[in-house]
Amino acid sequence: MTTPLSIAHDPAALHAMNADLHCHSTVSDGWLEPVEVVRRAKANGVDLLALTDHDELGGLALAAAAAAELGIGFVPGVEISMSFAGETIHIVGLGIDPGNPGLIAGLLQVRAGRDARARRMSEALAAVGIAGALEGAHRFARNPALVSRAHFARHLVASGVMPDVRTVFDHYLVRGKPGFVEHEWASLEDAVGWIVGAGGIAVVAHPARYRLSAADMTRLLDRFAAAGGEAIEVVSGAHTDDEMRRFATVARQRGLLASRASDFHGEKESPVDLGRCNPLPADLIPVWSRLI
Ligand code: AMP
Ligand code: MN
Ligand code: MN
Ligand code: MN
Repeated sequence: MTTPLSIAHDPAALHAMNADLHCHSTVSDGWLEPVEVVRRAKANGVDLLALTDHDELGGLALAAAAAAELGIGFVPGVEISMSFAGETIHIVGLGIDPGNPGLIAGLLQVRAGRDARARRMSEALAAVGIAGALEGAHRFARNPALVSRAHFARHLVASGVMPDVRTVFDHYLVRGKPGFVEHEWASLEDAVGWIVGAGGIAVVAHPARYRLSAADMTRLLDRFAAAGGEAIEVVSGAHTDDEMRRFATVARQRGLLASRASDFHGEKESPVDLGRCNPLPADLIPVWSRLI
């Protein structure tokens, strides 16, 4: 993106940019096509947008072209699923080269695992009397290579099993519930390595959402930094104000770059719309200082 030098070198102007560096399209579990995501971001006043579909790069070319046409800054991104201490952790990659062979091969592997998991989820749901869940989830997945728990949840709502997506997750799709199956995603070192290898900056997504002990969170952040990770989402659509302050402190103490991200999936499912996140605390270094 071409940015006036006056912005790139003026910390206050950098902070004032409306950056939204994490969201989803129909290429993963968002409701809008990549081009529609960019249009909505533009309408909402976003200056710099990253599309970060789960384990997929397929929407980036269309989104980048739409962004160029509409005159909005665009950062190619991805959100990679990885396993750590028994939890699924999401690492966002920003400014990656979508043509990087190592990243492409790594994501192909993650999607193969995702496909196998979807089959096991469907079997687990069948065992409690919910038949045909895989076919149902596929009806909501516009990309057959990317079935997410969100697609299962939408199918269970549409078929009248539960009133809304949140309730489906609480009753069926989280650990300990009948539709949840354990799954081994990428390793932390692989996920961060693929991003860094593709010229990107690795970002810990929505850090407050993980059920980790304080010791495991410390280990996660230590290993993330050791692997070459540099940033953390401080402002996230998935964070409360208290959680934002907690991770602002983490960013300061660890010298991490700070990201700002709605994690928008769609109007009906997301608490925060594109570009409508809180501002970053003024003393933090925005991750986008390295992306423009
Ligand atoms: P997956 O990557 O297939 O495990 O699916 C994770 C996705 O499910 C997230 O990216 C969200 O889109 C959605 N999700 C996870 N937890 C919840 C929840 N409690 N309520 C609604 N959606 C959720
Ligand atoms: Mn999602
Ligand atoms: Mn996520
Ligand atoms: Mn996300």
